[in-house]
Amino acid sequence: MQAEKFIIIGNGPAGFYAAKKLRTNIPDCSITMFDREPLPFYTKIRLPDLIAGKVEEKKLFLSSSEDYEKFGMENHLGTEVASINPKDKNIVSSSGQIFHYDKLLIATGAKAFRPNTIKGISNDGVYVLRTISDARKIMEKMRTSQKAVVLGGGLLGIELAQALNGKGLKVDVIEFFPRLLPKQLNQVEAAILLGKLKKTDFSFLLDRITTEIISSGNGLVIRTNRNDEINTDFIVVSAGIKTEINLAEYSGLKTEFGIIVNDKFETSGKDVYAIGDCAQFNGKTFGLWAAAKEQGEALADILSGKRTEYKPSAFNPILKVTGINLDEIRKEANDGSAGVRKF
Ligand SMILES: Cc1cc2nc3c(=O)[nH]c(=O)nc-3n(C[C@H](O)[C@H](O)[C@H](O)COP(=O)(O)OP(=O)(O)OC[C@H]3O[C@@H](n4cnc5c(N)ncnc54)[C@H](O)[C@@H]3O)c2cc1C
Repeated sequence: MQAEKFIIIGNGPAGFYAAKKLRTNIPDCSITMFDREPLPFYTKIRLPDLIAGKVEEKKLFLSSSEDYEKFGMENHLGTEVASINPKDKNIVSSSGQIFHYDKLLIATGAKAFRPNTIKGISNDGVYVLRTISDARKIMEKMRTSQKAVVLGGGLLGIELAQALNGKGLKVDVIEFFPRLLPKQLNQVEAAILLGKLKKTDFSFLLDRITTEIISSGNGLVIRTNRNDEINTDFIVVSAGIKTEINLAEYSGLKTEFGIIVNDKFETSGKDVYAIGDCAQFNGKTFGLWAAAKEQGEALADILSGKRTEYKPSAFNPILKVTGINLDEIRKEANDGSAGVRKF
């Protein structure tokens, strides 16, 4: 009997850990990995540390090119998948090559969201941070800059702003909500966090909608709904993520804000599965590294008959800023030791 042929699109944690577990569970299966990035598997979690100069780029890699050979995986790193055809059970690469599969795993993740309601959001000098290549561009720009603005005061926005500030840049964070981390902290806790982060060269403009980014000389001017005009050398947009579901959508798979899957990660297409940031499971997407890894491994177990369904763990995202611990802030707020009035 011919070995079962798995194709995986996406070499992030969902795809990579699915491949690794499939190899362990089904030693003689065929695994082919595609990713548009030409790099072996690396961690995105430490990209702010790379920008902060706390870690060298080579330390981000969690695998090497040789590992793929060792795992007996055919890799097409640096190859974009242009379309998938569930009826014919094949995918087509951007160079027009056709690859057949028995089972297809879509692990295409997400991209950084650039809100197109902001005029000038794609101007030169406006960056996002999702990949090593994004980080390299930001680091290059930092060399000739004194001031940066981060649009978005969520977990990643704060980590990134701290990284930029740590490298000597003056940083403003512009946040849509009237407080930081509205998903993670209540009003009192957010006020404590703000107090801990604020410095003369690191400030927060809350409760503002960025309306326009204008190129001006070598820099940019940001306009908000409160008539602010903020000058900066560059901007990093940290306004959340947008799931990468185009491939699935064009091939007719059911999607909403993610690719809809059941508790076996089955999509609406036969023998097509979706895992990680791109998958919409029980009406939600996770956007977390640990969830992507867990889903990749769970799918490999399901495909090899080792379990029947996936039940997600409880995940608790943390803020990775030196000296700041969200649980301690919550405790401080509960103790009332912060001297802040509770609402
Ligand atoms: C800067 C940063 C910091 C983060 N910090 C944390 C953290 O502290 N904690 C946490 O839990 N999570 C964190 N995350 C989120 C975490 O990294 C993601 O949840 C995780 O990477 C999702 O894994 P994934 O495999 O689903 O998708 P991804 O890691 O996005 O991988 C998807 C891959 O698919 C490829 N791809 C997409 N479309 C195609 C195509 N058509 N053809 C070929 N390849 C394609 C992409 O190139 C990409 O490599 C962070 C993310 C970033 C960017």
